[in-house]
Amino acid sequence: MKICSICHKISGTEEDHLDCKEMRRVELEADDVKEKLPEKLDMAKNADNLNLDIKAVLNHMTREKEKKIRVIFLVIIFLGLLVLLALH
Ligand SMILES: [Zn+2]
Repeated sequence: MKICSICHKISGTEEDHLDCKEMRRVELEADDVKEKLPEKLDMAKNADNLNLDIKAVLNHMTREKEKKIRVIFLVIIFLGLLVLLALH
């Protein structure tokens, strides 16, 4: 038996409770997202950077015509699904 290092209650196994470990992992991930969010918002606010990103993507797409067609095809399917959902 061992004391769980997370909830400080007795654990039946030699490890911390699985639930506690999962909870800790989710908390750490949430913290990670919280830390990165302002950074991403700053990027979104910076319209010049965003435009450069979009231009780079568009350039990439025009260079690879086959992929471009595939992307357009997927977008059409996606829009079709949205229309179907909206009609429901
Ligand atoms: Zn625990």
